[in-house]
Amino acid sequence: MAENNKPLIATGQGYLLPDSEIWIDPLEPVRTAVISHAHGDHAVPGHAKVYCTKNTARLLRARFRQFAGLVITPEYNETFEVDGVPFMFIPAGHMLGSAQVIWDRNGKRHNYTGDFKRQQDPTCEAFQVIKSDVLITETTFAQKGKEHPPAGESILVLGNNKNINYVIGAYSLGKAQRLTHLINQLLPEMKVMVHPKISRYHKIYEESGFSLGEWSVYHRQIFKKATGCVYIIPPSVLQSYMPGTNFLRGMASGWDRLQAGMDIVLPISDHADWNELLLTIAESEAKEVYTIHGESEAIIEHYKNSPIKISEL
Ligand SMILES: [Zn+2]
Repeated sequence: MAENNKPLIATGQGYLLPDSEIWIDPLEPVRTAVISHAHGDHAVPGHAKVYCTKNTARLLRARFRQFAGLVITPEYNETFEVDGVPFMFIPAGHMLGSAQVIWDRNGKRHNYTGDFKRQQDPTCEAFQVIKSDVLITETTFAQKGKEHPPAGESILVLGNNKNINYVIGAYSLGKAQRLTHLINQLLPEMKVMVHPKISRYHKIYEESGFSLGEWSVYHRQIFKKATGCVYIIPPSVLQSYMPGTNFLRGMASGWDRLQAGMDIVLPISDHADWNELLLTIAESEAKEVYTIHGESEAIIEHYKNSPIKISEL
């Protein structure tokens, strides 16, 4: 497909709607930014005008002291105009506030999924299916057959040894809150402690109406003396925890390579797996599909003899 027929121009610094100044998830300051969610590889500070969901704005205000000039926060499923183009946010199920970005242009409905997942996660707004003509989907885990087991099953590994503590690496935003909720729900006898860098996001989740259950900020003395504690820390801090006598180490991630060297395996991901990607493409009914993030070879091969035209953006 010719470059100028693509619905978005991928620049390496975000995505630009052709013949406009509208950017989606720009990674350097622009005049007008539409932001899908608050993760650092999608949101940066310094834009003149930002459109994002209310909860994404809350998180970005916590991350950045002055994150944008004007911040406009439409409700999910509410149409809003950006430079004359009608847009809409639909829940993406990836983390608090995350959105699929929908817009109508040239007689076609477009859906930029952003990061998304379809597994159950009561700590964020649930993924919503929407039909579109053009689907731009993330393909972070588009390896044929790649499956994320249900998080509710994976978390039970922490209950196998009650006479020890756990130190678990997890992204501070999204994953750490999901883990806290899962442990409270399924292993309520365990005590969740979180790193101070994570606790501020826990508070925003709770202020936004998403209860996480019992948790406290890490307390060294309690952790040293007790058993049955789970200490959740940012992945970068996990490296400083060498194997210890009173704790086992784990990393909550869908990436197999990040499980290497850990004492327990915790394959919990906030992205769609292979089947979720195929289901989303099917339910969108889009005949024009573009992939972003990750490896696209397997999924492009999968649709080789189908009416769906699929290519990398
Ligand atoms: Zn993300």
